[in-house]
Amino acid sequence: MNHIGGVAAGQIETISGDHWITSSQDDLRLRRPLDGDVAVDVAILGGGFSGLWTAFHLLSGNPSLRVAIVERRFCGYGASGRNGGWCSPRFPVDPAPLIRRYGVHVARRVMEAQQNTVGNFGEMLAKAGIDAEFRHTGLLSIARGEQQLASLQKTFATYEALGLNEGNRLMGAQEAFEQVHVTKISGALHSVRGATVHPGKLVRGLAHAVEALGARIFEGTEALSVRRGQDAAICCETGIVRASRAVVVAGEAYLPGLSGFRRDLLPMSSMIVLTEPLSDAQWEAVGWRGGECLSSQVHTKNYLTRTGDGRILYGSRGAPYHFGSATRDDALQDDAVFETMRDTVREWWPALSDITFTNAWGGYLGVPRDWMPTVHFDPDSKLAVLYGYTGRGVSTSTMCARLTAGLVGGWQTGLEGLPFHRARPRKWEVEPFRWGGVRYVQNALARIDAAEEQSRARPIDAPLAEYLSAQ
Ligand SMILES: Cc1cc2nc3c(=O)[nH]c(=O)nc-3n(C[C@H](O)[C@H](O)[C@H](O)COP(=O)(O)OP(=O)(O)OC[C@H]3O[C@@H](n4cnc5c(N)ncnc54)[C@H](O)[C@@H]3O)c2cc1C
Repeated sequence: MNHIGGVAAGQIETISGDHWITSSQDDLRLRRPLDGDVAVDVAILGGGFSGLWTAFHLLSGNPSLRVAIVERRFCGYGASGRNGGWCSPRFPVDPAPLIRRYGVHVARRVMEAQQNTVGNFGEMLAKAGIDAEFRHTGLLSIARGEQQLASLQKTFATYEALGLNEGNRLMGAQEAFEQVHVTKISGALHSVRGATVHPGKLVRGLAHAVEALGARIFEGTEALSVRRGQDAAICCETGIVRASRAVVVAGEAYLPGLSGFRRDLLPMSSMIVLTEPLSDAQWEAVGWRGGECLSSQVHTKNYLTRTGDGRILYGSRGAPYHFGSATRDDALQDDAVFETMRDTVREWWPALSDITFTNAWGGYLGVPRDWMPTVHFDPDSKLAVLYGYTGRGVSTSTMCARLTAGLVGGWQTGLEGLPFHRARPRKWEVEPFRWGGVRYVQNALARIDAAEEQSRARPIDAPLAEYLSAQ
């Protein structure tokens, strides 16, 4: 039986176009939903990386804790089961704005913490007993056209200023082309840090790992509200999960649907198209032997991954923002957007003009008003939150979960003094101002990219759009 969001256990219904969950080789039967009241020490809302890693670190630090996770659909239903698979050494806020806001010393500590998370990722997976096709690939940011070079040079200069340029190297057009045979390539910034994972294997593997440590997971169970204070609990239609120590809210882009969290984050969609596995001859034409996390410097962002089974994944910003921060799955089935993305792959590599695209899907990532992730725990209200990783949550959620577990569990992680450990962020504007502002910026960034692509003059409002979208 295919069933989601209800009470009957059956096979989970993956999202349209899914690749990662289907290929995770996991048992895809829905776990039992909540049926009655339960008392635990820590109740967690959300079965993605944030919720599951928090449970993992909590139980690794204190195996006697009673932990329960409430997940509306299934573990990996959200961004954790839909992403590009980059385990990025880059923090959600870029180095220059980090320095501007917190100074050089703190900026360097934040970036080192993120890099260490990626550096230790493989070890953590081994500890959790998860084979998620983790590969240390490095990162290759390319410039396509002269106009994209400045951004790479600026990034490199900022790394130099922070004393963190070791392992980063600028490449000229010829050397960059030898790395990856992309048309119009004019240079690259190569970083030895950075890795890729199979997100489906990671999120599904994590669910088993936390169950093995004693956590209970209730899938097909929607949290209707979160109670704080003495009666802290997650309240669902079919029961209440009472928490003596903390309720951890880890719902990321879906939080605007929950009372008390409606304007903490903005759900931004991102879309992905995936090719069939390439033949050896096709890979010869593509280059990209290192399988680095690959991107160019467009305003609308893009990310490419060479998957473990030899496909090309191309992702970029997706459908327009929906009024009221809605996160409907059907809004992510935009054939026009998918076709433009497929065209981009063919344009980057004309040798792939006949390649078949097997999958196309989208997902929602959570954007805070100031682009800064948040970890917060208030022992009085017993409420903990971790969220707001924009498109860099694979590694950042892991780091934030380690901090959350330490705060709730009562031990030090060394991350306490970093600026993402803070009060909850400034809220997004009320509608319709939110809709108007976000739609304008999305449209303007696409116009800037189109003008640059066609070597036309930039739109007159480019500075305004860049100012409004700056971190
Ligand atoms: C298309 C796409 C590509 C991306 N690519 C990358 C990438 O390559 N690298 C990178 O670092 N990051 C990437 N990201 C971002 C990254 O995937 C996320 O930041 C990360 O997965 C967030 O994990 P999470 O657990 O916080 O949220 P999610 O994985 O979204 O999990 C939240 C969970 O909470 C559940 N939930 C929400 N509300 C309720 C409720 N009321 N009751 C019960 N359950 C609820 C949801 O069903 C969901 O399963 C991408 C995101 C998308 C969408």
